[in-house]
Amino acid sequence: MAENGLAVRKSKSEVNYRNFQACRNCNYFYTSGMCELVEGNISPEGLCNLWEPMEKPPVYKDKEYFQQQFNKNRNK
Ligand code: SF4
Repeated sequence: MAENGLAVRKSKSEVNYRNFQACRNCNYFYTSGMCELVEGNISPEGLCNLWEPMEKPPVYKDKEYFQQQFNKNRNK
């Protein structure tokens, strides 16, 4: 965790990123092709050493998800 509170993302080579069709089920995957922990474009067909199962049924963190979170926070 960086001083600003944001996670410091790792490079693909640091985490042995490879093609294994598992990112889509990972807790850190965003359907926009991003990962909370790893830099660069991330394919749903990938896998790395940081893989963790989704904690809940898939919550697709796409544009609609962030809009819902924004609206929820704005209405507090
Ligand atoms: S498996 Fe690794 S690269 Fe893929 S979404 Fe999870 S943490 Fe990111």
